[in-house]
Amino acid sequence: MTHEDVPYERLAAFQGRAAATAATGKDPVNLPMIRHWCEAMGDAHPAYEGPDAVAPPTMLQAWTMGGLSGHTGAAGRSEAYDELFALLDGAGYTSVVATDCEQEYLRPLRPGDEITFDAVIESVSPRKTTKLGTGHFVTTRMDVHADGELAGTHRFRILKYAPTAGKPAKRAALRPRPVVNRDNAGFWEGVAGHRLLFQRCRACATPRFPWLPGCADCGSPDWEAVEAGGTGTVFSYVVMHHPHFPAFDPPYAVGLVELAEGVRIVSNVVGVPYDKVRIGMPVRLEFLRVDDELELPVFRAEEEG
Ligand code: ZN
Repeated sequence: MTHEDVPYERLAAFQGRAAATAATGKDPVNLPMIRHWCEAMGDAHPAYEGPDAVAPPTMLQAWTMGGLSGHTGAAGRSEAYDELFALLDGAGYTSVVATDCEQEYLRPLRPGDEITFDAVIESVSPRKTTKLGTGHFVTTRMDVHADGELAGTHRFRILKYAPTAGKPAKRAALRPRPVVNRDNAGFWEGVAGHRLLFQRCRACATPRFPWLPGCADCGSPDWEAVEAGGTGTVFSYVVMHHPHFPAFDPPYAVGLVELAEGVRIVSNVVGVPYDKVRIGMPVRLEFLRVDDELELPVFRAEEEG
């Protein structure tokens, strides 16, 4: 990605411009939000409970946030922040990362306090080159008032930057190796011979998968290996978007496949886009060579109907 220089004077002209004026907190300071915050943070300090509770000072910004729905109406909002971002976006500084924040506390916030706040673009840095890329730091200061009195200041800094081109080449990541042990070695021997083996109890004939040393139904340790015919249906599935594991390319579907013999196995459903996998979809076993050392049983979607 290329970016053009924005004359620094144009950026510096935003310093001191209001980003929000006399904006109002969505809720007054209140105990339920304090309790949820403390639970999320694991903070059991007694000052935040009971009839004389105060809000944790670090909640300062929480009282100013618009939440998912944002702040309603145009009241308090200024265009300066949007204009600055549009200018930086247009110059190719399209990425943003929050870098740090500082807070000062002047007086405790108590349930019932009505919150108003003003925000100002305090500084825009000259162009800097960082490991992430080249860009400008933008520092915004928010003054938080409780019932009209300055209660604290929240200063936060972001970097608007153009990502560095030509990232170092990623080493190809390998799929995780299976853990093969005495209890499941027979399964992996089957895979090596392109056979999907499950276990069947010799005492009560209950089939089972994954491999275990004993029968969950009757407790018998006696079993035999049975080869699956290879047909089944998608019993359930999830689509993985996050987290991103090396060697996997999200989004992808992880299927829980019920074999015709009645046991279920977690595997990939292949031959169909991740968003076309459906419960009840017929699938058929095949073996996927993942890399030099690893083959896995996967299930290919069969034409329905
Ligand atoms: Zn049994």
